Amino acid sequence: MKYRDYKMTPFYKLRYENVNGYNLFIKRDDLYPIIGGGNKGRKLDYILLDCLNKGCDAVVTCGGIQSNHNRATAIKCKELGLECTIIIHSNPIKKLSGNLKILELLGVNIVYCSLKNISSIMDNEMKILEKKGFKPYYIWGGGHSYEGTLAYFNAVKELRKQTEVNFDIVFLASGTGATQAGLHCGFKYYYPNTNVYGISVARKKEKGKIEIIKTIQHFISQNKLDNSYLEDVIFDDRFNCGGYEKTNIEQLNLIKHVAQKYGVILDPTYTSKAWMGMNYFMKNNILPANSNILFWHTGGLLNLMAQ
Ligand SMILES: *Cc1c(COP(=O)(O)O)cnc(C)c1O
Repeated sequence: MKYRDYKMTPFYKLRYENVNGYNLFIKRDDLYPIIGGGNKGRKLDYILLDCLNKGCDAVVTCGGIQSNHNRATAIKCKELGLECTIIIHSNPIKKLSGNLKILELLGVNIVYCSLKNISSIMDNEMKILEKKGFKPYYIWGGGHSYEGTLAYFNAVKELRKQTEVNFDIVFLASGTGATQAGLHCGFKYYYPNTNVYGISVARKKEKGKIEIIKTIQHFISQNKLDNSYLEDVIFDDRFNCGGYEKTNIEQLNLIKHVAQKYGVILDPTYTSKAWMGMNYFMKNNILPANSNILFWHTGGLLNLMAQ
């Protein structure tokens, strides 16, 4: 079943002049067709397809107060006419901005709770919907799921159709790792010589990498891909600015610089960390001359607007 025609997100070369002859390209998933854009929209198109295929008519999911995933889920549920319960692991706040403003506007059921109660609250909300006669569908926080990973595997196929360019390295902002796992497998499949470089937005290197490998393991077993897909997983935590939603002045200056130079808007929670990591590699001549470098923009506009 297909519920909407989907157009490719833009891909192009940035005006980046440098002595090393680096070519810098960008894949604009920040312009994925949903209000606020981003990778959560792309993941959800696959997740909700699974929801509809299973005959479900309601959704329960969770996230933080400025969760892109919650916002994208609520919008798509309204589009599709699905009942929607969003659990936010935070205290309610008065100031409505960014994702929270849109979430409130959509009028979905919002339940606030503490982080430690999240799974029992989610189970409870599933039961409440069942009692009301719905068939609810459970989505993990962040859209971390097989379908989310598949969305990014297929995103590489989309890129392959868009351009003849072969990339040496791809940088992206990595959180739960579902996006990275999908891109990792997708690039190994469609561009066997490309390295996918995940820049952590929060997690420490060891934990983050284990999660990505688990996700890849599940994906390759579902798709009968071989164990070589488990190799070369890179998750760099040097640019996370101290953790999730933590930011610093260098990062804010970088957001300004990239906006003024390229007209590309990064955000403080995710994409500016990835750009910072990429910048480190370009500025310190770590990549070979004439490398083709791709920045995979994953969104975050509403995180910037919430600042
Ligand atoms: C969620 C998110 C990410 C991280 O995606 P994961 O699949 O969880 O790693 C990166 N960028 C933006 C803008 C996000 O909202």
